[in-house]
Amino acid sequence: MHRRTQDSKWSGTGHTAGIDRSEGKFYLVGGGIASLAVAAFLIRDGDVRGCNITIFEESDRLGGSLDGVGSAQDGYLMRGGRMFESKYLCTFDLFSSIPTLDRSKTVTEEIFDWNDTMKTSSKSRLFQDGHRLDAPSYGLDEPHILTLERLAIEPEHLMANRRISDYFEPSFFKTNFWFMWCTTFAFQPWHSALEFRLYLRRFAHMVSGFNQLHGIMRTVYNQYDSMVRPLHKWLDERGVKFELNTRVTDLVLEEGTERNEVKGILCERAGQSYTITVGPTDSVIVTLGSMTDGSSLGDMDRAALVNGKPDGGAWTLWKKIAAGRPAFG
Ligand SMILES: Cc1cc2nc3c(=O)[nH]c(=O)nc-3n(C[C@H](O)[C@H](O)[C@H](O)COP(=O)(O)OP(=O)(O)OC[C@H]3O[C@@H](n4cnc5c(N)ncnc54)[C@H](O)[C@@H]3O)c2cc1C
Repeated sequence: MHRRTQDSKWSGTGHTAGIDRSEGKFYLVGGGIASLAVAAFLIRDGDVRGCNITIFEESDRLGGSLDGVGSAQDGYLMRGGRMFESKYLCTFDLFSSIPTLDRSKTVTEEIFDWNDTMKTSSKSRLFQDGHRLDAPSYGLDEPHILTLERLAIEPEHLMANRRISDYFEPSFFKTNFWFMWCTTFAFQPWHSALEFRLYLRRFAHMVSGFNQLHGIMRTVYNQYDSMVRPLHKWLDERGVKFELNTRVTDLVLEEGTERNEVKGILCERAGQSYTITVGPTDSVIVTLGSMTDGSSLGDMDRAALVNGKPDGGAWTLWKKIAAGRPAFG
């Protein structure tokens, strides 16, 4: 990654320190919110010109997991709805510069105005024996609390390949805390303990209102319409290039250096392969999420296909980059 030095030049770390990247090209792989945000921050805070930024996206639209498409005729599709809370500081900072599509306010103002009107306050998080529990207590015993505390500070390398159920005794999975947790964040006992810990840390400050979902915020529309479209428009107006239907299949890395410098980007589009040469002042930023990578759709008559990692562009690229290079995980 590159940092900004006092003389307002983009400067690489390591042996390329001192290179002026302000007029170099920025190639961003993946058209999800991560790349869109990178592009906006580069323009807004890094004085990078939009025309020097290219985003490669393998599908035919931007937004990645933040999707929302369809029509009244064919039905609508959204792979999930995103919850926010007031400490999404980077998100709200970014979107305080992005106008809504009708330009009446910023997206951040729209989200806060909306959540002033529509406050989340669940009166029936759980049901027991056919009756609703108005504000259920968590039901955690001392061993559960101690394990939660231990999880919060456990060194990451000890958690690799471990499940949540490897840490907690079975009674934990019968507590109201767990029922509320797993129905809020879609966790199962066999899911990654590390992922569980990341969520614990991220949402620890919400725990006091957790049994009524206090503090959970929503966008007015789905996140594609409320966030991706306004951000796309803002970037488009600034000349950012979007290469849709373009899968990045590999990166040419200069071997034998500490920095793993990228020299080329291998792309595939409409069955054609080509390589983009990356110059010394250019930057490549790969921000591929993988939550919906390789996902498939079913309908009322057909079950969704169960795809694997080779079916998605994100995992295949990561596996290629990481092969023989432990630094990439
Ligand atoms: C069901 C669900 C519910 C969620 N709920 C919440 C929530 O409540 N709150 C919250 O904060 N977050 C939530 N998330 C997580 C959030 O949506 C994601 O973390 C975020 O959208 C990831 O953005 P991204 O840009 O990192 O990755 P993605 O959105 O995955 O974008 C990656 C993009 O890269 C493209 N791509 C992949 N490989 C290649 C390639 N080789 N070449 C070119 N393009 C490629 C993909 O097509 C995709 O468009 C949820 C996610 C899901 C799926």
